Amino acid sequence: MNNNPFENAQRQIDSAAKYSDCDQEIIKVLKEPERVVEVSIPLEMDNGKIRIFKGFRVQHNNYRGPYKGGLRYHPDVNLDEVKALATWMTFKCATVDIPYGGAKGGIAVNPKELSEHELKHLTHGWVNKLFELIGPDTDIPAPDVYTNAQTMSWIMDEYSRISRKHSPAVVTGKPLENEGSLGRDTATAQGAAYVLFEYLKAKSLNPQDITVAIQGFGNAGANMADILFHHKIKILAVADSKATIYNKEGLDPHDLDEYKRKHVSLLGYKKGKEISSQELFKLNVNIIIPAALENVITKDNAKDIKAKCVLEVANGPSTPEADTILTKNGVDVIPDILANAGGVTVSYFEWVQNRSRFYWTQEEIEQKLAQKMSSAFYDIYNFSVNKNITMRQAAYALAINRIGKAVKNRGILN
Ligand code: NAD
Repeated sequence: MNNNPFENAQRQIDSAAKYSDCDQEIIKVLKEPERVVEVSIPLEMDNGKIRIFKGFRVQHNNYRGPYKGGLRYHPDVNLDEVKALATWMTFKCATVDIPYGGAKGGIAVNPKELSEHELKHLTHGWVNKLFELIGPDTDIPAPDVYTNAQTMSWIMDEYSRISRKHSPAVVTGKPLENEGSLGRDTATAQGAAYVLFEYLKAKSLNPQDITVAIQGFGNAGANMADILFHHKIKILAVADSKATIYNKEGLDPHDLDEYKRKHVSLLGYKKGKEISSQELFKLNVNIIIPAALENVITKDNAKDIKAKCVLEVANGPSTPEADTILTKNGVDVIPDILANAGGVTVSYFEWVQNRSRFYWTQEEIEQKLAQKMSSAFYDIYNFSVNKNITMRQAAYALAINRIGKAVKNRGILN
């Protein structure tokens, strides 16, 4: 079984290329990252010992604008994963038509084992090693798995210190007090919810009849649970890295959140029964929402999925083999490059506000985000229906058209 996420990303491009208007020669350009950087970051730990951490930045494509993409802290971070995530960023930015290319970064570290002081210096180390490659007009990082607004403010601080310029636009997802944007913390989930509601409308389904299971209870998953709960969608199961909790009567995300804050994980939560992580995918729910890591829906468990829709809030949760099985079984997959694009969209709004030094209201952000997400959804949904292809193929084909034209107009560097 091949679960190399970068090869999966390349296969997703190939599977859509024939439905695009793009010259096949240019497709070759879109399949390879432009720059791949690996660095070693030495860190003096609180106990005086030195540890070396591997750090990465992959810049996939910048024909449509500066490179843009998150920074992930996770023990399993590796080059193929970062290359895949960078590729998906290029296509995601084109899907929602914001003027960015794609990039991604990471550090192979378990942040739960480090003190706040160590994490801050590790983050400064990453900026130091990559200083020449990032910047408000070149490459703009953002939060991803196990990084957050605090991490972004450390990046902004170190970059501003080295460049001797106040540089809020070097990074997005900052705290509000450090020129972050209203709505950025909930943007990924809010964007996914807008897409989901458009999907339900297109399928003539009533939100109040819908049940969901959510894998991942962090920034994306917990905010998603919160928004869906407010729309009276029943959440039958949620999972974090330590436990999967099920209750056929529905779970209350506020209560789960409070429990997680107190106990660090959902392990031991009593207002539901604990099931195995794989059982989540077999549940009798209408929609499965992966919101954790990639490659969780594979050829081994795709056949067990009873839900008629998978909303990919995580990046790369389904392998191409799983996609084929889901399509055969009539399961609609709302692809990651559309479903989770709300995060980068509000990141773009944050960057625009930082550059113009004029800040928008919550209503302005929400209205602009809703407009972006619903117009991207209908472009993709209608194209998929007209061509009788999956929403993933439709999203990639439309993105390929946009990026391909930008490459062709500018010309290939020889
Ligand atoms: P996060 O660090 O806030 O949360 C990750 C969650 O996943 C945690 O609850 C963790 O316990 C859980 N998790 C980890 N391993 C798991 C496992 N094996 N089984 C079940 N749960 C597990 O990260 P996040 O920002 O919410 O990111 C989640 C996904 O959403 C990632 O794929 C990320 O790339 C994607 N995403 C995030 C953003 C954003 O703005 N944060 C934007 C677009 C896409």
